[in-house]
Amino acid sequence: MSVIYEPRGRAREYAALAANLYAGCEHGCVYCYAPSAVRRARDDFHGAVKPRKNILAGLEKDAERLAGSKDRVLLSFTTDPYQPIEEELGITREAIKILRKHGLHVEILTKGGTRAARDFDLLMPGDAFATTLTFLDEDMSREWEPNAALPGDRIKAIKQAHGMGIATWASLEPVIDPEQSLEIIRQTHSYVDRFKVGTLNHHPLSKTIDWSSFGYEARELLEELGKDYYIKDDLRAYMQCSA
Ligand code: SF4
Repeated sequence: MSVIYEPRGRAREYAALAANLYAGCEHGCVYCYAPSAVRRARDDFHGAVKPRKNILAGLEKDAERLAGSKDRVLLSFTTDPYQPIEEELGITREAIKILRKHGLHVEILTKGGTRAARDFDLLMPGDAFATTLTFLDEDMSREWEPNAALPGDRIKAIKQAHGMGIATWASLEPVIDPEQSLEIIRQTHSYVDRFKVGTLNHHPLSKTIDWSSFGYEARELLEELGKDYYIKDDLRAYMQCSA
């Protein structure tokens, strides 16, 4: 089975190529879809995290096959590349080195905050660093994303990456409190190069949110600020329904 794969469905809007280095994710987000995607019980998925079997050897083989591809390889979708055990194991660091060796570009997407910063030295022009920004409120972050880095630490990481000349983007998905998502844009736009804006899927709270209004407000704000942005298909569909 390939380690570097072509994501399908909603994930395809994020990347043409991706690799998941760990099995499981300690961050334990309440809205996490990954356990069902990989058919594991939630407690097990969030509690027993380890590198996937022979992950670096498999990655090397696939990287050799895809050498020179223009598409960035996203780390990761069904896990986070900056698990607490990454500090000790350095699997993501080795993976970045392998991808670079074969001329492949890397795109990091994490909620691990400054845990990722030690690998910024490996990122080159053509690579990117991204973080999911869900809240500014720390209590809400602890409630919904109990073991992920707090918002301030994620923001510190993306600011640091930008300061080092690394291309940055923020994933505003899921959107749980639209007002906070808009405020995140206002507060971070000077060091986030691009925003990808989505909705909240598979959660009852989604039915209580006026997605169309949120979509229009977010788009207006991003245009006012002159930012590069991408409205995800789900959100665009709500906006088109009410047009
Ligand atoms: S960081 Fe991503 S993979 Fe990890 S628990 Fe949260 S949503 Fe799931």
